[in-house]
Amino acid sequence: MLAEIKGLNEECGVFGIWGHEKAAEITYYGLHALQHRGQDGAGVVTSDGERLKIHKDLGLVNDVFKNADFQDLQGNAAIGHVRYATQGDGGIDNIQPLLFRSQTGSVALAHNGNIMNAYKLRGELERDGSIFQTTSDTEVLAHLIKRNSTSDYETALMEALRSLVGAYAFLIMKENKLYIATDPRGLRPISIGRLGGAYVVASETCAFDLVGASFEREVIPGELVVIDNNGISSKKFADAEPRTMCAMEYVYFSRPDSNVNRVNVHASRKKMGIELAKESPVEADVVTGVPDSSISAAIGYAEQSGLPYELGLIKNRYVGRTFIQPSQDLREQGVKMKLSPVRGIVEGKRVIMIDDSIVRGTTSKRIVRMLKDAGALEVHVRIASPPITNPCYYGIDMSTKEELIAANYSLYGMAKLIGADSLAYLSEEGLKRAIVREDLPHQGICTACFTGEYPVIEKGQKTIEYTKC
Ligand code: AMP
Ligand code: SF4
Repeated sequence: MLAEIKGLNEECGVFGIWGHEKAAEITYYGLHALQHRGQDGAGVVTSDGERLKIHKDLGLVNDVFKNADFQDLQGNAAIGHVRYATQGDGGIDNIQPLLFRSQTGSVALAHNGNIMNAYKLRGELERDGSIFQTTSDTEVLAHLIKRNSTSDYETALMEALRSLVGAYAFLIMKENKLYIATDPRGLRPISIGRLGGAYVVASETCAFDLVGASFEREVIPGELVVIDNNGISSKKFADAEPRTMCAMEYVYFSRPDSNVNRVNVHASRKKMGIELAKESPVEADVVTGVPDSSISAAIGYAEQSGLPYELGLIKNRYVGRTFIQPSQDLREQGVKMKLSPVRGIVEGKRVIMIDDSIVRGTTSKRIVRMLKDAGALEVHVRIASPPITNPCYYGIDMSTKEELIAANYSLYGMAKLIGADSLAYLSEEGLKRAIVREDLPHQGICTACFTGEYPVIEKGQKTIEYTKC
């Protein structure tokens, strides 16, 4: 049976570069482009070919590097990480990259995802004598590699990766090599690009655009990419299974200017809106979207329905994401501070309000009330993804089943609870039509939080008591 995750999970972002004299600075810029994936901590590890150096701290990328000495972070290679921490686990120790030093050399790790069998592996490793520095599931990989160290490094690494069950995109850097690995189902996004003669790697392609790099390719499920001064090579550490890229990357997480698994996020969201309008039309005067993640879907809905798309809500861009507030009270206050209705647009109108998803229902409830207080005659809520009825075990902040409103109420019950005149969700088929490109290889999405059909299952898992990223 799958374990129930206690508390909140997290998403994270990784960036790496090999073969550039300004590796640390470029990684710093790359992390800026990935800031939306984690705002609680950031770090960079560089390699000058002989030594690995680290700078990391709690906070936003800008704050973490405000006082960093880039002269000290010399080297032609670097990896970086932005982290979304959870209540009680936000300590500096868990900020990545993690750096391990030994007599045979150093290794730095940066990870996005969740290792489902980390608890079990950690127990085994501790019984074998390992002493862990952090409560992060990422650290397990470093100890597994070390345990296999009678083999050469690459063999040891591939064997270690085969022991992991879960969703992961890993950057692993030694003094003279950068490794990139993704799980056999490719649940988390990771792409490779070029910047002049250098190789870059990032969770999202928007980071390539920011540093002026060009997209080269996606990392294939079960692949270990090796980059060093001789160039790039590829190994298969596990047989690739059918790809199940996280659907929520398209629905909510990734930036609209990113291509995830070669599909543009804005374009897929717009199609979600088009599909939603086909499936669930309603008589109204205007269509509006919840900024920022629902704007693309709202544009699609408006286009398909023939109704005008209007800016019915605006966002105060200096307030962080609602989810970062740890308690329900603070979260509700957060929504109020973050969004304002545009009275001149919604007053006296029947409004279709598009949101990308409903998790606990806090956001929708607040926004419906806001729009009505601003004079909207009717508010019809349309959600550009299916109802989230199951927690995520693959590294995404998706709460427990008890907190998921769609797992506990009927559609009618939810509409009543959020105060909407009507409520409809996109179907799973509609979501797939919007994302999956039949003409491209390695397509396919994970929809487990909507369907409960988990592509990767770890049997007999204990309650997760470590930190994930
Ligand atoms: P809620 O207010 O709990 O229903 O959260 C729904 C809002 O949070 C939606 O407007 C989404 O844009 C956003 N959202 C959806 N999934 C997540 C997530 N896993 N982490 C953070 N925010 C999310
Ligand atoms: Fe993404 Fe949902 Fe699958 Fe988690 S369960 S990986 S959030 S699609």
